[in-house]
Amino acid sequence: MSGNADIYHEMIIDYSRHPTNYETEDQRKLEDSFFKNTDVIFHDSNPLCGDSIDIGMKIDDNKVTDIKFSGKGCAICMACSSVLTEIAKGKSLDDVRKIEKNDILSELGLEQLQAVRIKCALLSLKVLKSALYTYLAKHLDDSQDADKLKEDAASLY
Ligand SMILES: [Zn+2]
Repeated sequence: MSGNADIYHEMIIDYSRHPTNYETEDQRKLEDSFFKNTDVIFHDSNPLCGDSIDIGMKIDDNKVTDIKFSGKGCAICMACSSVLTEIAKGKSLDDVRKIEKNDILSELGLEQLQAVRIKCALLSLKVLKSALYTYLAKHLDDSQDADKLKEDAASLY
């Protein structure tokens, strides 16, 4: 294992133990839960591995003002979800929809990930794109633009 691989491996373990922009099941039961006060929430799962996550966003003036995820996942899923929320937070909706799989994979040295694990890594991006689609479809007069986003999400893996 090269030095870099060690560092990436450590980052993934660290994120899985201490995910960022994350709300636990218990926190979601509380009155001031982030997920009780979002503009859009989307859920999806990866049955092959058991990853199952929600992403919630607060959107204001076409910008993701806040974003959190919740749920259960393997180390790769938790790490990639953390990285994705860090990337998306504060960005315009236009920039968020341009996020590509390599933006996440390269952060964690996962570009060469095996096909069976790629769903673990990209589940969060799929959920994010689907959440954005759900939001846009509700708020745009012309839903053609949003449909493109739905296709993007479906073609990720
Ligand atoms: Zn997984």
